[in-house]
Amino acid sequence: MTHAVEIRDLHKSFGALSVLRGIDFTVDPGQVVCVIGPSGSGKSTLLRCVNMLETPTSGKVVVNGAELTDPDCDIDACRRTVGMVFQQFNLFPHMTALQNVMIAQLRVLKRGKADAERIARENLEKVGVGDKADAYPAQLSGGQQQRVAIARALAMDPSLMLFDEPTSALDPELVGDVLAVMRKLAQDGMTMLVVTHEMAFARDVADHVVFMDGGVIVEEGPPDRVIGDPQHPRTRTFLKRVL
Ligand code: ADP
Ligand code: MG
Repeated sequence: MTHAVEIRDLHKSFGALSVLRGIDFTVDPGQVVCVIGPSGSGKSTLLRCVNMLETPTSGKVVVNGAELTDPDCDIDACRRTVGMVFQQFNLFPHMTALQNVMIAQLRVLKRGKADAERIARENLEKVGVGDKADAYPAQLSGGQQQRVAIARALAMDPSLMLFDEPTSALDPELVGDVLAVMRKLAQDGMTMLVVTHEMAFARDVADHVVFMDGGVIVEEGPPDRVIGDPQHPRTRTFLKRVL
């Protein structure tokens, strides 16, 4: 079987700063993998290497069978199959929710306007903000904006979704709505790689949990083990702080 994501001996440095120091793991189609770990451990850099927002210093990144680290790879074509949701929602402030979900469909996928609008409305509906299609980002709560951002990614028909702390910028009472949408996506079989501090979510939804510290994977396995019964002292220290 082709892995959805395959990472082999991935290294990334920024000048003299070595941020990823030999990362290996795979995500299989339909799996949800959660990456946890302290701030500065390289989680965002790892995610950014998976869709080549950062160029790895060395190692291999393969997404849906395409090796992104191969110089001949058509990065734009591969990236189109990967949706990404960030901590900051990055919606265009001068566009409505509907327009935000349509724009990349029109520009990147070259869909017709009617199709793009229909698909945008379907996805806004799916994440529970169908009634906000004509609202501008400033008129939406953080949780609604993040759900629009998820709809925008889904409208591109990704086969893999990357989430980088999607609820960290939200007021606590809005976190649940976004996690519910992610939970539903996971149940529907979406392949997901999620950086999160939401341990209850990771415990419930993840098939596999990766604990990173200092640019390496310190411990990984099923959530019941990594979160429920961590073996490594660094995992234990981290979990004591966040749980
Ligand atoms: P995390 O997401 O786990 O908090 P990051 O991947 O954001 O960690 O960052 C890991 C380290 O890499 C940090 O020390 C950060 O300052 C550094 N870093 C991240 N991006 C850059 C960059 N573009 N240039 C220089 N240093 C960076
Ligand atoms: Mg980060």
